[in-house]
Amino acid sequence: MSVKKLSKESLLNWVDEIISTKKKVYGVQKHKDKTDRFEFAPLDSTADLRLDYDVTVLPPKKYFQPPTETLVAFDLKGGYKAACDTEKFIVIGIHPYDMIAINQMDELFQKDNYDSHYMTRRNNATIIACDVATASKDIFASSMKTATVKKGYDILLTDIGNGYVAEAATKKGQLLLDKAKTEKASDADIKARQAVWENNEKNLNKHPLNCQPSEVSELLEKAYNHPVWEEKAKTCFSCGSCNQVCPTCYCFNVHDDMNWDLKSGDRKRTWDGCLLDGFTKVAPDHEFRAKKSDRFRHRLYRKGKYVPSKIGGQIACVGCGRCIGACLPDIANPVKVYNRLLEDTSAVKK
Ligand code: SF4
Ligand code: SF4
Repeated sequence: MSVKKLSKESLLNWVDEIISTKKKVYGVQKHKDKTDRFEFAPLDSTADLRLDYDVTVLPPKKYFQPPTETLVAFDLKGGYKAACDTEKFIVIGIHPYDMIAINQMDELFQKDNYDSHYMTRRNNATIIACDVATASKDIFASSMKTATVKKGYDILLTDIGNGYVAEAATKKGQLLLDKAKTEKASDADIKARQAVWENNEKNLNKHPLNCQPSEVSELLEKAYNHPVWEEKAKTCFSCGSCNQVCPTCYCFNVHDDMNWDLKSGDRKRTWDGCLLDGFTKVAPDHEFRAKKSDRFRHRLYRKGKYVPSKIGGQIACVGCGRCIGACLPDIANPVKVYNRLLEDTSAVKK
């Protein structure tokens, strides 16, 4: 695969061409609420694309695991019909930390129970990732070792000031990049990209974690009964916003929607969140994490201990900082909790 240089003008012309193919194309642009926030949305015009964005409100996981999707349609006469979205699509502008979250989902959704809905979308996607050009106010990707990424994308773009370095990592990425007007990336261009990577690996760090991410699991091992869970959860609204904006949260609920004829309907799955009251409710009306503090603790254990045990120790927080901005009482920041536990190891009870 190749490493090329595109001028800023060539990049815009290339995106124009991608849009003109009539494939579904999503790209980062100003949020439709007209604030200074950004979102991934259908890209109709190259002028709307903002590769200089800081962070999007929702992560791009919504294209791989939509907030709501139909799994099966059923009716009394026709029986069951599986539904699966098979359309090919392109996503432009995924940052490294979100790419790493998708890489983690790829691993989890292929493990144990292969998730054909997720994997069909994933295989139909072409991902044009881009390195971070503007740090968001709450990012801590440097601490989580997610400020740069080496796999998962089809093409990686890096803004080096006088153009972009574009690296094709897959055959479909190469075929797409071949449509752009490019030149060979010079040694100076490659050095400039390396400088962007080194800067991001150091400076995307608004909430520094005071240990290695790989040490969090062991830290949590000793902290199950620490007072921090009760203290923080006192002001928790159980709103689930920290779950909904998180690129590594993938829990879902499955329910049947009957139509008015009471003969047909759909089986749907929708995003769920472990902070929501009722998440663990089972028959007969028993809830095994009814306390807010238990749910609050579970989220941090899931990110720092349970998921890492399934995916070779990788922590399931990629440091995007979205949960920090989404939490009204300002208690969702994982770093604040992990650092507090680190400071307080003498108070940690087994
Ligand atoms: S826990 Fe917060 S900072 Fe970490 S990946 Fe999720 S939303 Fe981002
Ligand atoms: S931690 Fe914050 S965002 Fe998460 S459920 Fe509680 S109040 Fe909502």
